[in-house]
Amino acid sequence: MKHNKLSIKWKFFAYLMLFTFIILVMLWLSQVVFLETIYKSIKINEIKVSANNIAKHIDDENIKGYAEAVGDQNELCVLALKMETSNRAIELFTVDTLKNCLLHTTDRRSKFILYDLAMANGGEYLKYYSYDQMRHGFIESDGQQSGEFESIIYTLVFQNNAEEEIFLMVNSVISPVAATVKTLYYQLIVISIAVIILAVVLTIFFSNRISKPIRKINDSAKILATGSYNVNFNGSGYKEVSELAETLNYAADELSKTDQMKTDLIANISHDLRTPLTMIVGYSEMMRDIPGENIPENIQTIIDEAIRLTSLVNDVLDISNLQSGVGDFIPKPVNITETIKKALLRYNKLTEQDGYTIDFEYEYDVTVNTDETRIMQALYNLINNAVTYTGADKRVTVSQTVKNGYVRISVADTGEGIEEDKLSLIWERYYKVDKVHKRASIGSGLGLSIVKSIMDMAEGRCGVESTVGRGSTFWIELPLRK
Ligand code: ADP
Repeated sequence: MKHNKLSIKWKFFAYLMLFTFIILVMLWLSQVVFLETIYKSIKINEIKVSANNIAKHIDDENIKGYAEAVGDQNELCVLALKMETSNRAIELFTVDTLKNCLLHTTDRRSKFILYDLAMANGGEYLKYYSYDQMRHGFIESDGQQSGEFESIIYTLVFQNNAEEEIFLMVNSVISPVAATVKTLYYQLIVISIAVIILAVVLTIFFSNRISKPIRKINDSAKILATGSYNVNFNGSGYKEVSELAETLNYAADELSKTDQMKTDLIANISHDLRTPLTMIVGYSEMMRDIPGENIPENIQTIIDEAIRLTSLVNDVLDISNLQSGVGDFIPKPVNITETIKKALLRYNKLTEQDGYTIDFEYEYDVTVNTDETRIMQALYNLINNAVTYTGADKRVTVSQTVKNGYVRISVADTGEGIEEDKLSLIWERYYKVDKVHKRASIGSGLGLSIVKSIMDMAEGRCGVESTVGRGSTFWIELPLRK
């Protein structure tokens, strides 16, 4: 098989490296590339919020104290004027915490220009200034400069409670971040290299740890594939792997059981086939060669052995049909009591000639929705077993009872019973309690597994109660028609 896919180890490695790369890119973008833009927009937002907060408290008694606190906190300079006319104003209060404050150096005329600009702009205006090295002072700018000192004045025109017009100016300085960016730049180079090395080491370590248990399981699975069922899957590491190991151990166990049963079956079947065939050939030759041996008893032996062979072959065919799903299950309303009676007719010869007693106990006729042929097949298997294994009294009791929405058909014998630890095993394919071949119990070991498969199809149930030395009662249950 060709594998074009990446192994889990390399996949994990690739994902972790991608993650590291994204984190580093984000770090570089925010700390170096866009630091100035981010810092500037934070500053502008800060000045706007401060101005609006002061405006909100303009009618407070201690507005100057409030404005001073805001100014101190954000390094702002504040000037509030009350407009008398459009070119006359009275100073209300001023806060002067900024070193290079522009408000206290700009002339009256420029302030009124700012007022006009704010009025034309809906009551607020933001103006940028940049530091000019030649003139040693701030000059007006468009706010696009970078790498030098900038100053911004934010103006706000509004009315107080007494409907007087207030003209508020707030000034703040934006220091250049170039020096900071440079420091961060070198720091980030060191950090990035360290993070990349760490990520590589960690991913190699972890990807190995993650893939190792899977590789180990794969190695064991390869051994299993060659037919060595005693391989052990070791699921150390993490939950999924130990669950997988458990499942595979279970599968290996089941495979080895089936394998063992098949080996047993072949041994048994070939023995079972050979014995009747030997008898048939032996009796036929005897009847051909020895005069006077052509008697009905000998012919009957040949017929009996041929019947044994047929039923053996039928069992094998039945189970393989049931398992491959070839045999359909066609439910129809069936009088199950009549079905049982029909099945028992088959045993007339046994009861009349061989001294067997087969009783049928029931209270009333019951109808269920099921496939009569299949149920008949299940019944034959149970009754055949009961006849085979029943005790010296040769008694078998079939009974039909109704309980909890189910009709139960039980087949009880008076034989040796089955040991408790074997009770769950007898339903498995090819399982025979008595492995030592006995003529009395020739069977394929398939009968009960056929019953179980049929009951699964019929949505019914089956089971057994048995007491060693007293006998066994096998039962099947079918759901009653609703
Ligand atoms: P088999 O064809 O060998 O009877 P089954 O699947 O019908 O195969 O039964 C499996 C095993 O269960 C039998 O080999 C037998 O040992 C045991 N068994 C089945 N029915 C009875 C019974 N009525 N009494 C005692 N043992 C039984």
